[in-house]
Amino acid sequence: MSLKAKVALVTGSTSGIGLAIARAFAAEGCSVMLNGFGDAAAIARLTDEIAATHGVKAAYNGADMSKPAEIETLVADTASRLGGVDILVNNAGIQHVAPVEAFPTEKWNAIIAVNLSSSFHTIHAALPLMKQKRWGRIINVASTHGLVASAQKSAYVAAKHGIIGLTKVVGLECADTGVTCNAICPGWVLTPLVQAQIDARAKAQGISVEQASKELLSEKQPQLQFTKPEQIAAFAVFLASDAASNMQGTQLVSDGGWTAQ
Ligand code: NAD
Repeated sequence: MSLKAKVALVTGSTSGIGLAIARAFAAEGCSVMLNGFGDAAAIARLTDEIAATHGVKAAYNGADMSKPAEIETLVADTASRLGGVDILVNNAGIQHVAPVEAFPTEKWNAIIAVNLSSSFHTIHAALPLMKQKRWGRIINVASTHGLVASAQKSAYVAAKHGIIGLTKVVGLECADTGVTCNAICPGWVLTPLVQAQIDARAKAQGISVEQASKELLSEKQPQLQFTKPEQIAAFAVFLASDAASNMQGTQLVSDGGWTAQ
């Protein structure tokens, strides 16, 4: 079955992995709803470019994923402008790195809200639309940090372990509905979220950005290569395809050997 004319809502899709996922679904012929922060004119150019390149509808809603009321509006807006929410990709995410005793409470609250609770709210709002059509795909962008931990990332690791749990529960609840819910766990992917961590490491250690990047990879990812956003996007398209229709409540990992250790 083709994904042509399905509607894909991808949160946090103005940058990085989410943008690659939105482009990949547009390439499959899906209408796409973009979301995320950024310069209004640049985002307008992006939606125009995606629509023109792939001959699909591309829209944008700037809902703040830490705000449940805005998330509800995002889902309703997608349904009214594009005709439903067939594929929901929960991708928006933020990071803050600090030891637990120094971790600012407002950073903890923000990370749990954006990286975990937002997915509950999108699923809560979109699932009835999918069940009506007896078809839907929920894809949660988790992380290797949903499977294993790293020091100084208490909120991120808690949120990502949480999203793996939420994926399992929604998967079970959706058995026999035509809707699947699965997660993707990337290791290091070179996006602005990770570039900020590389830059901080270079600054703290007085080393070059290139050296900091090498050290970041060699600590965790034995293949010493970043996973590409397009490789994660290909996972998302696969999870939406018929080939993945019997995958439920589970995850796909692309981490260069990180979690094999
Ligand atoms: P990124 O910083 O390039 O993109 C994050 C996106 O989320 C942007 O579009 C941003 O505007 C949006 N966003 C942030 N806060 C938001 C909010 N409150 N409301 C709406 N949108 C918001 O980061 P990325 O690396 O592409 O990360 C995407 C997802 O992939 C995240 O969930 C992240 O945890 C996960 N991930 C990334 C990596 C990696 O190595 N880059 C690894 C594993 C998992």
